[in-house]
Amino acid sequence: MAQKVEAAPTKGFAEADPGHANPWLIAQQQFDIAAKVLGLDPNMGRVLRECKRELTVTFPVLMDDQSIEMFKGFRVHHNIDRGPAKGGIRYHPDVTIEEVKALAMWMTWKCAVVGIPYGGAKGGVVLDPKRLSRNELENLTRRYTSEISMMIGPDRDIPAPDVNTNAQIMAWMMDTISMHAGHSVPAVVTGKPLGIGGSEGRPEATGRGCMLTTIAALRHLKIRPEDATVAVQGVGNVGYTTAKLLAEKGCRVIAVSDSNGACYNDGGIILDEVVREKELNGRLRQAVCETITNAELLELPVTVLVPAALENQIHIGNAHRIKAKVICEGANGPTSPEADDILYDKGQFVIPDILANAGGVTVSYFEWVQDLQEFFWDEHDINERLERIMLKAFDSVLRVSLEKKVNMRTAAYVLAVDKVAQATTIRGIYP
Ligand code: NAD
Repeated sequence: MAQKVEAAPTKGFAEADPGHANPWLIAQQQFDIAAKVLGLDPNMGRVLRECKRELTVTFPVLMDDQSIEMFKGFRVHHNIDRGPAKGGIRYHPDVTIEEVKALAMWMTWKCAVVGIPYGGAKGGVVLDPKRLSRNELENLTRRYTSEISMMIGPDRDIPAPDVNTNAQIMAWMMDTISMHAGHSVPAVVTGKPLGIGGSEGRPEATGRGCMLTTIAALRHLKIRPEDATVAVQGVGNVGYTTAKLLAEKGCRVIAVSDSNGACYNDGGIILDEVVREKELNGRLRQAVCETITNAELLELPVTVLVPAALENQIHIGNAHRIKAKVICEGANGPTSPEADDILYDKGQFVIPDILANAGGVTVSYFEWVQDLQEFFWDEHDINERLERIMLKAFDSVLRVSLEKKVNMRTAAYVLAVDKVAQATTIRGIYP
């Protein structure tokens, strides 16, 4: 009999619109569920359910027409007891401090699940990057980096790309910190271009981890990849690579989407054709597929669903209609705790974000190690080490899930929270 753990009611969580629930309250609710299963000391619970540092910055950027615009940004550290803080930078009009706090907490658990010696951080700037020229984006990135520079550094906090940020933005961040230091500081960010200390395999790492955990889940469920169909919400860095690598394993990708809508073809989508059109014209190619909505994509009767866009996609309002056998969370926070229960009761296998998309931070860790050692590994080594780490983590989480009769998310949390709690306990509460 499955064990269902009621979380302490979290005030403000049950919002009228479940698609816009507060991610920070969800993150705390997920933590509370795991703390209860783990029998965590309530004193430790009080420490771990809060963020250690939250920085809000408001800063000017000189625009191309010589006007000055003000922007708001954040950098948050959730916990740094297992090592320096680590987490991406998001550029998006909907970024809030609550979202950044949730993403920082998820980073703490993610690093612990895969055994990477980092704590959790996240950053974000409230903006629509499509509205800015390249020059404005560079100005904004350099000024934001400067504003958060008191928090970041190779042994303090190491940012990386996230939604709407990429290797070029990481290069500007690294250069800004290096200019202040008077020498190159490549290990201050990961996800950099190869020529300035980036790592082989980093751009594909998150999607590769999603592919590896999905194939492991299919094996557990005794489904052959050749018999699996796949739908991917959000063909950006994570979604595109996951789709591409699953197709290489024999799966049939039948639907993909971006923020404008979804593209569906039951016969299978030629990914590069669809995505090349997006690069050229800004939209996924409609000619080769039927146009459906993002909501319809989520509810397709596929074997594997990969939400790889933003939070709050699978919630109490649509979880009953989700049909996929395996849900691989490429995105952070796509599923609410209520939806988790519904999916678990229907026998659907969720690979939680803190496990599924941990390939990115794992290879970011490799990049940081290579930068610090000034000694670089080849792609074969990177992918082999990544596979070993991802499969070991998957097996550990699955074992706890079966032993404790909890869903995969709670199992991953139980492992992660226990590791972080041990580190915090052994270090002691200062002073
Ligand atoms: P990205 O900017 O490269 O891609 C995001 C994609 O999502 C784009 O195709 C965009 O059009 C699409 N999208 C945005 N809003 C959408 C909507 N409402 N419906 C459908 N599609 C939508 O970002 P990314 O780096 O691929 O990140 C995607 C998710 O993966 C985020 O949740 C991020 O936190 C998570 N993640 C990223 C990494 C990484 O290494 N980049 C690592 C771990 C987790």
